[in-house]
Amino acid sequence: MNNITYINNKFVKHSNAKISVEDRGFLFADSIYELIGVFNKEIIDTDQHLNRLDLSLKKVKIKYRFNKEKFKKIITKLIKLNNIFNGYIYIQITRGVAERKHEFPKKYKPTTIIFTKHLNIDKKIYEKGVKIITIPDLRWLRRDIKTTSLLPNVLSKQLAIEKNAFESWLIDNGNITEGSVSNAWIIKSSNTIITHPANNKILKGVTRDTVIKILKKNNFNIKERSFNLIEAKNAKEAFLTSSTLSVLPVVKIDNYNVSNGKPGDITKKIMYLYNNYIVKNKNSLAKELKIAWLNQ
Ligand code: PMP
Repeated sequence: MNNITYINNKFVKHSNAKISVEDRGFLFADSIYELIGVFNKEIIDTDQHLNRLDLSLKKVKIKYRFNKEKFKKIITKLIKLNNIFNGYIYIQITRGVAERKHEFPKKYKPTTIIFTKHLNIDKKIYEKGVKIITIPDLRWLRRDIKTTSLLPNVLSKQLAIEKNAFESWLIDNGNITEGSVSNAWIIKSSNTIITHPANNKILKGVTRDTVIKILKKNNFNIKERSFNLIEAKNAKEAFLTSSTLSVLPVVKIDNYNVSNGKPGDITKKIMYLYNNYIVKNKNSLAKELKIAWLNQ
């Protein structure tokens, strides 16, 4: 069996997984999501992702009988059925199907979909680093919620691609908040590592949190504070993080090379430490559920 998707308590062929045109996720983006990375069959930071999923549900007031253990069983089953080695698990929960009115329906049954995708890792971008552009952050002020209302992110990422860049870093009130699909980091000439504080202006990335923990454990100097474009362009190094990209060096910001335009030594060290964390993920779901095939 291949390419199986979970939809509302059923495992079906991906092409048969369908939702109603009156689903509020489709009509209003009245829906939240989560995306969990899978590397070498290891599901990374499962608990943190599922905790954030639960938090997003609460923040948008979707009434849901959240059962973490059930989610863990479903995603483990899907990874096995779909034979995912490197890829991701995508979870989306909407406020369900109802007549198109903005207010919440009095009664509703949330829609839950979970699918998996294979990812081919492009080693070149990690060796060479990527270019980013900067553009105004036009999003709403609850960026801490992982909602599928992503049109500004879609448009910013598209603009980056059109400018032969990999990602856009978004500027709000003079400061860089984050990327359209990732968190943004710079390293000062003092070796201090800086990323935007986790408030309503950014998504608190799970990778961001893990990298912060790793950095603190390894005695790096890390500061969660705002930084502006001038600071970014004068940075010694820069990188971005996300669940599918891990730690990716940034070597060009707009048309300015970051230092010599090559991935920096501290960034390489962070990539190495994060990779080690993934490989030796002591809290991995595979170990927790004692599933032999995941460890093969
Ligand atoms: N910010 C935004 C806007 C994102 O879309 C993502 C990726 N989902 C991130 C940050 C990184 O979050 P995570 O490390 O949890 O994937």
